[in-house]
Amino acid sequence: MVRVRTEREINYIAESAQIVADTLDMLSAKVKSGISLLELDMLAEKFIRSQDAIPAFKGYMGFPATLCISVDDEVVHGIPSDNILEDGQIVGIDCGAVRNGYYGDSARTFAVGNISNEDKELIETTQEALYRGIKKAVPGNYVSDIGHAIQSYVEPKGYAIVRELVGHGIGTNLHEDPQVPNYGDPGMGVLLKEGMCLAIEPMINIGSREVYTLDDGWTVKTKDGFNSAHFEHTIAIREDGPQVLSGSKLNG
Ligand code: MG
Ligand code: MG
Repeated sequence: MVRVRTEREINYIAESAQIVADTLDMLSAKVKSGISLLELDMLAEKFIRSQDAIPAFKGYMGFPATLCISVDDEVVHGIPSDNILEDGQIVGIDCGAVRNGYYGDSARTFAVGNISNEDKELIETTQEALYRGIKKAVPGNYVSDIGHAIQSYVEPKGYAIVRELVGHGIGTNLHEDPQVPNYGDPGMGVLLKEGMCLAIEPMINIGSREVYTLDDGWTVKTKDGFNSAHFEHTIAIREDGPQVLSGSKLNG
C-alpha cells in the first residue's frame, strides 16, 4: 500500500531528510585522500546522534554501519572499512536517519581529489538523471514516468542503469511501497498523488548494467569493473510538483 502523508508527517520526514543532507554536507569537506571509510562513518554517526536522530541503516537487516560507502566499481551498500581514500577515486555515500519515527534517505557520489573526465561525466550524468526523475514526481503521473525519464536521459549517452536495485516509498519505514525503478515504459504502475513521499535513486554504470554482491552479503559491484555512481533524494509530491526534502545547503 502506498501511503499518502499528512502535512505533519511530511514535516517529520523533511526534518529527518534534512539531517541526512546536513550529514552529507559535513562529509563533503572530509572526503579527501588519507581519510578512512570508518572515520567517515564515525563522523556521520556522531553528527546524526547530535541531532537527536538515529542512523537508519545501522542494524537494518543486520547492516553494521551508519553509512553505505561504495568506492569506484562498488555500486551501493559498501560496508565502511579501514580502507583509506585515494586521490582519483569516486565515492558514493548513502545515508539514512530516523527521528520521531520518520525516515530520511539520501546519497551523493563525491570525487576524491582529481578524478578522470570519464568519472566526472558519470557523476554529472547520474545527478542530472536524478533531477530528471524527480521532475516527473507530480500528481497525476505514474511511478514509471520517473524511471522512464531517467532511462531516456542516461541510456542514449551510453551508460547503463542498474536494475536489481530501485528507489522506494519512505516515511515510517526506510523502505515502503511503491518500488521506484530507474527504467521503464511511461504511464505504468502506481498513480502518483499529493502527499506521497519517495526516495528516488538512480545507480548508473559506465560499462554494462551487470552487478553482483560480494561475500560480505552487502557490497554490490559492477561485474566488468567499470565505475558506478549513485545519487538519491527523499522527495514529497506536492500539489504543484515535487519538493526535495534532502537538498544540500551548500549548493542547493
Ligand atoms: Mg539511500
Ligand atoms: Mg534509498
